Order: sequence, then C-alpha cells, then structure tokens
Amino acid sequence: MISVQSEELDFPKVEELMIPAEKVAHVQIGNPLDHALLVLLKSGYSAVPVLDAKFKFQGVISKSMILEETLGIEQFELNHLNDMTVEKVMDNSVPCLQREHSMIDALHKLIDHPFICVANDEGEFDGIITRRTILKQFSKYYHEIWKRA
Ligand code: AMP
Repeated sequence: MISVQSEELDFPKVEELMIPAEKVAHVQIGNPLDHALLVLLKSGYSAVPVLDAKFKFQGVISKSMILEETLGIEQFELNHLNDMTVEKVMDNSVPCLQREHSMIDALHKLIDHPFICVANDEGEFDGIITRRTILKQFSKYYHEIWKRA
C-alpha cells in the first residue's frame, strides 16, 4: 500500500489545465439548430459550449439534444432544424468553474460531465476543462508517487 501526505501533492489550478476560449468550438444562443449541428459535426465533438452575444456562458448543446428534438412520431424531421434556435434545446443547468478553482473541484464536477466550462465573475467564457486532461494529470501523479514509494 502506498501512502502519501496530501500536502506533498501540489494540485494545479483550473487555469493551468484548461483549454483557452480561443481554441474552443462554440455556438451562440440565437443560432438556428442546423448551424449548431454543422458546428458539432465539423468539429467532431459530441457537445460544445453555448455563449451569448457578449461572450457569456449560457449552457451546453449536444448532438443528441438536437436529434431528440427533431425526432417526430415516425422519423427525424430534419427540415425543422432551421425553425428552432439553440436556446430551445440547450442544457442551461450545467455546472461551471472559475480559473482559480483547484483541479480537485474540477475532478468532482467531471464525474458527471465530459467537460466543464470555465467563466469569470461576470460570466464571461474563459475556456473548458476536460475529463481527459484531469485523467492524464492523475495518471502523472500516480506514476510520480509510485516512483517515490
Ligand atoms: P476530451 O476529453 O478531449 O475527449 O473532450 C471531452 C469533450 O469536451 C468533447 O467531447 C467535447 O464535447 C469537449 N471539447 C473538448 N475539446 C473541445 C474544443 N476544443 N472545443 C469544443 N469542445 C471541446
């Protein structure tokens, strides 16, 4: 059994691990759903952040949310995609972090979400932190502790 004092581990802050806003694909709250689906398909991501015109974080939209919305009684009604906006289908109850939060705060939130958005006090979007980044960081710690044991 390997034991380690928590003060021996210096956990980084969210700002050291996040993907900055300029590198994150996003959609705007007023965009039609066909545009949002195009962004999701072209970027290859299953979900992306939703921002308003002032770059404030509003929620998250995913391919499955859009497809669910277009599912009619017997078929997908894709022709309705440009009648609806992102606002109608996005999830606006997702958690959010701030740059100063620690990696451990991110870890707790990433249990239920593949990525968490980072915003400042005014709600302006700063970037995202992903489950992959946190797992890589923990893998690094694990190997460092193992070497020390
Ligand atoms: P990953 O852990 O790298 O697989 O990313 C998890 C999720 O975070 C992806 O499925 C996307 O929904 C989101 N994501 C990761 N990187 C980006 C990015 N550059 N722009 C937008 N969304 C991203």
